[in-house]
Amino acid sequence: MQSLVLYYPEGHQAHQFPGHPERPDRVEVIRRGLEEIKIWDQYPLLEPLDLREEILTSIHDREYLDILQQASDLGQMLDMDTYTTRESWQLALNAAGGAAAVAEAVWDGKSQSGFALTRPPGHHATPSRGMGFCLINNVAVAAEYLIQEKGASTISILDLDLHHGNGTQDIFWNRQDVSFISIHQAPFYPGTGSLSDMGGEDGEGYTMNLPIPGGSGDLAYLTLISEVVLPFLDQKKPQILLISFGFDTHWRDPLGSMQLSGAGIHKAFETLRHWAEDNCDNRLAVFLEGGYDLEAGRVCGQAVAASLVDQSWKDSLGPAPTPEGDAWRNTLAESKRIWGL
Ligand SMILES: [Zn+2]
Repeated sequence: MQSLVLYYPEGHQAHQFPGHPERPDRVEVIRRGLEEIKIWDQYPLLEPLDLREEILTSIHDREYLDILQQASDLGQMLDMDTYTTRESWQLALNAAGGAAAVAEAVWDGKSQSGFALTRPPGHHATPSRGMGFCLINNVAVAAEYLIQEKGASTISILDLDLHHGNGTQDIFWNRQDVSFISIHQAPFYPGTGSLSDMGGEDGEGYTMNLPIPGGSGDLAYLTLISEVVLPFLDQKKPQILLISFGFDTHWRDPLGSMQLSGAGIHKAFETLRHWAEDNCDNRLAVFLEGGYDLEAGRVCGQAVAASLVDQSWKDSLGPAPTPEGDAWRNTLAESKRIWGL
């Protein structure tokens, strides 16, 4: 058995907007799903850390943080689809602090893996603005915390949400200490993340984008992970692997049209778990991003947690009802060519 720490965003129900898909039930179904498979009560829940100002301002511009806090004071929208409430500022700080707490426990070896149910989500939040339902970039804050407070020097963030993690990419675009990899549906929101976007300045070659068409499915993800992502990680040699996870890749998701199954997600995380065991001192931490179908949330949350603790598990929703496309093979071939793999 592997050890696990969890973070639950206490009070997160105060961040909600009538009819909006980014709603509190998304986290609650994962909690209940983990209760069903006896994982929730077996592993410790961590409290969010109080983050030094310098950590937050290394990730987001001071001006944006002020805008976010003021918008939250008034419960205003940040853009057409990104809402705040009076509690959102504090809840966003808590989620970032919870992400840092989970990353710290894994870094320190107190646990081999971590699963942070971060909400509000973070991976679309750029240095200068919140967007795509995201306020503070939780996984980026967790990485920066390890660098500034723990002396980490080499971190990889793998984004397995349906959408491109444009915010995380922008934050670390010019840097070598945090490499970023994203597999995402394209063309799709937010429109970024093409194969040729590989980082800038000192960070050139430290960002990897793997855009694939809707309908790609389990085989696409598992093949890209084993044939492209793992060789990239082998080269970068991170001390810890952080994963942005969205269950919007599941075939039931109402926003996306990726065809992943719970079983496919379980297999993907098992593969990554084993890679972390062999290559980065068994340090693996997962952070919740998107995902909008509640049944998919329950099952995918179970798939992730069961793979993290090496527990057997059955996918009650089964495979996608429609056949998988294979246009993703272009991305496989092109990415291998570009990256010399
Ligand atoms: Zn998403």
